[in-house]
Amino acid sequence: MKEQDIDDRMKDVLEKLSEKELRMTPQRILISKTILAMVKNHSSLKEIYDETQKVLPRVGMSTVYNTIKMLESLKIIDTFDIDGKMRIDQTFPHINIYCRNEDSIIDVDGQAIEEIKQVLSKYGINVDVKKILIDGKCNNY
Ligand SMILES: [Zn+2]
Repeated sequence: MKEQDIDDRMKDVLEKLSEKELRMTPQRILISKTILAMVKNHSSLKEIYDETQKVLPRVGMSTVYNTIKMLESLKIIDTFDIDGKMRIDQTFPHINIYCRNEDSIIDVDGQAIEEIKQVLSKYGINVDVKKILIDGKCNNY
C-alpha cells in the first residue's frame, strides 16, 4: 500500500475510533500503519511483529495482536487462519488461493465470486459470499 493510501486509511481508523470516543496512543498508530502497509501480502502475526520490531523494538506480541483485532473490529482489515496461524486480509469480497508449496496467497476477486454464488443458488443455497479460501498446491506459475 502506498504511503498516501496508508495515511488515508489511518484517517479512517482515527475517525472511527473518535466516533466511539476512543483514542490511540502514538505506539498504536505506528503499529496500525505497519499493519496497513502489509495487508495486501496476507502477512502473519509473526511477520507483522518482526516488522514492528524495526520501529518499536520494545513492543510485545500481544500489543501487535490486539492492534490487529482492533483494526478488524473497525472493519478496516479482515483476518483468517491457515493451519491455526492468523493472517491479515483486505475486506472486499474475494477468493484467497493459498499455495502450500509456495506458502503464498493470491487474491482472485470480482467475477469468480459471482460465478460461485450462481453455482450455489442451483443447489438452493443463497449466501452472501464475502471470502473463500482455496487451499492446495499450485503449479501454474
Ligand atoms: Zn486476500
